[in-house]
Amino acid sequence: MIGLSQIGKIDRIVRRLNDLSQISLTERGVTRLSFTRESENANQLVSRWMEEAGMTVRRDALNNVIGRYEGTQEDASVLLIGSHLDSVIEAGKYDGILGVIVGIEAVQILHENGVQLKHPIEVIGFCDEEGTRFHTTLLGSRAIAGTFREEDLESVDKDGITLARAMREIGMAPSQYRLAARDPRSILGYLELHIEQGPVLEKKNQACSAVSGIAGQSRLEFRVEGLAGHAGTVPVTMRQDALAGTAEIIQTVERIALQYESLVATVGKLNVYPGASNVIPGLVEGTLDLRSINDPTRKEALSRILEECQQIANRRKLTCEFRPVLESPAVPCSSHFISIIESVLEDHYMEPLRLVSGAGHDAMAVAAITDIGMIFVRCKDGLSHHPDEFASPDDIKSGLSVLLNTILKITA
Ligand SMILES: [Zn+2]
Repeated sequence: MIGLSQIGKIDRIVRRLNDLSQISLTERGVTRLSFTRESENANQLVSRWMEEAGMTVRRDALNNVIGRYEGTQEDASVLLIGSHLDSVIEAGKYDGILGVIVGIEAVQILHENGVQLKHPIEVIGFCDEEGTRFHTTLLGSRAIAGTFREEDLESVDKDGITLARAMREIGMAPSQYRLAARDPRSILGYLELHIEQGPVLEKKNQACSAVSGIAGQSRLEFRVEGLAGHAGTVPVTMRQDALAGTAEIIQTVERIALQYESLVATVGKLNVYPGASNVIPGLVEGTLDLRSINDPTRKEALSRILEECQQIANRRKLTCEFRPVLESPAVPCSSHFISIIESVLEDHYMEPLRLVSGAGHDAMAVAAITDIGMIFVRCKDGLSHHPDEFASPDDIKSGLSVLLNTILKITA
């Protein structure tokens, strides 16, 4: 085991996080969209750090930056470590980036100590996880997993520029995207360190955890229709108030969600029509988002919600329709990797915690071709996708040590 004392200070990580955060379209927070001048500058900086860490660096056919640290055994499968370099609008400086920089640091520590493992390691900075620019997520990691689709190239940004054109503008050949796909037989596994983006580690007073998997998700749009009318003249008992019905629906969603340990449910958006203070709402459109690591739980909860919403609508003489928008199954982390990460946590006198990731990550896509393992690092107030996002240097150091020792155990 490499102990925290051997890791020493982590000034280099902190400096790199700051340097990378400077490459931003906006003054406020970090805005780094894929296939832009900012992403090019970030790729160049990250490439330089990878070289300093003893890696040979290349870009693949989708502009993912990949640094390779050779192993001692020829033909040994490669351990991938990655996360993303793109961001949302006015993001923080840790989401995604931290996993890449800590991955580079882990390799640099091996390199500086003259340690070469049996297996090669590749650190990947994925080009586009958030989907901020082209509204299609996990572009980089899906290309590596071979699940990138031809039609993804036709996705357009807000200025009508297609992904294919954006790629050509930085000198890439979009039609070559298939070359980014990796052969599963050549890969040992994939590890990703990421800030938690939630409040659980802070509540548990612990720096890091393992991740059991990435939650499956159902996203739906709904429409509740009643009858608009005069807010002054129609007695409350005689109304078909779509918003009052929706309020009951939202409470039902919350009540059902609370009955399952591993379920979160959110009504995140409502449009009320006609939307006037003196008119009874005749129509409400909204969204429902349901997530769980347990797919049967999510499906059961969803069918209960749909059934109860129908009953509410009937009782209130409203019509209520749900339309599925997205359905993605849970992606479990490898139980082998989870138990290794848990044992490493115990070596660090931490509880072998495993959290569910309610957010999507590159690991989700990579899971199509290899075993995945994830390490979460505590972030302040669980805040993410915000300029005030923060992970403390001490917690990052713990994360680095957990990642490094996990690498050692996996490749042993
Ligand atoms: Zn992220």
